[in-house]
Amino acid sequence: MQNEQTLKNYEHYLNLITAEIEKMFEAQKEYICCKNGCSLCCEQGMYPFSEIEFEYIKQGFVDLPENIQQIVKSNCQKLANKVGNGDFLYECPFLIDGSCSVYKYRGLICRTFGLISENASGKLTIPYCAEEGLNYSKVYDKNTHRILEGSVKYEGYSTLPKAYNLSRYNLMFGIVKSLNFDWGESRLLIEWLVEYFDIDTSCEVNSVQN
Ligand code: SF4
Ligand code: SF4
Repeated sequence: MQNEQTLKNYEHYLNLITAEIEKMFEAQKEYICCKNGCSLCCEQGMYPFSEIEFEYIKQGFVDLPENIQQIVKSNCQKLANKVGNGDFLYECPFLIDGSCSVYKYRGLICRTFGLISENASGKLTIPYCAEEGLNYSKVYDKNTHRILEGSVKYEGYSTLPKAYNLSRYNLMFGIVKSLNFDWGESRLLIEWLVEYFDIDTSCEVNSVQN
């Protein structure tokens, strides 16, 4: 359990990291077509969250109207059996009618959806939505999983796409250096939520089988 001051320190860090991520989006704006109502990035992920990220998103949850809280809880109950059955790609339980119900409180990974990521050894991760005709799709080859420099020129883009180191480690410790809080352990979002809501996963598995 994190105390109020720790969460304030985390909020300060979030302001700094979010500003850095916004600069990345600004630099890539030619390739980005995110808009309200587009939510593919929240529909098929694993969503790792550290303890402090989860404590923070819980603040967003408790501020929701009761009927929305019930929807989130019911989403979690349905998801518990999916994950219990080994399916770790799922729609985020906070996604309601195509929008994040806790947007201000979303996790680190959520803030990077849509950018190209590169890990320390240079391996690229192209956003899922490039396959769906969205970000970077005009310069991305689905078959070879590569960015096509020829298409950049052909499409008239002024710069080549850039990849950023958006690994969790870099987001947590690399981009913003001085932190006044501990991240705590990391788990998948649904694992935190199952514990928080005290969901009986064995009952959920039975209900699927029936
Ligand atoms: S917390 Fe919000 S932004 Fe993050 S995956 Fe869930 S719905 Fe999407
Ligand atoms: S990252 Fe992709 S799926 Fe998500 S809002 Fe942007 S365009 Fe849509």
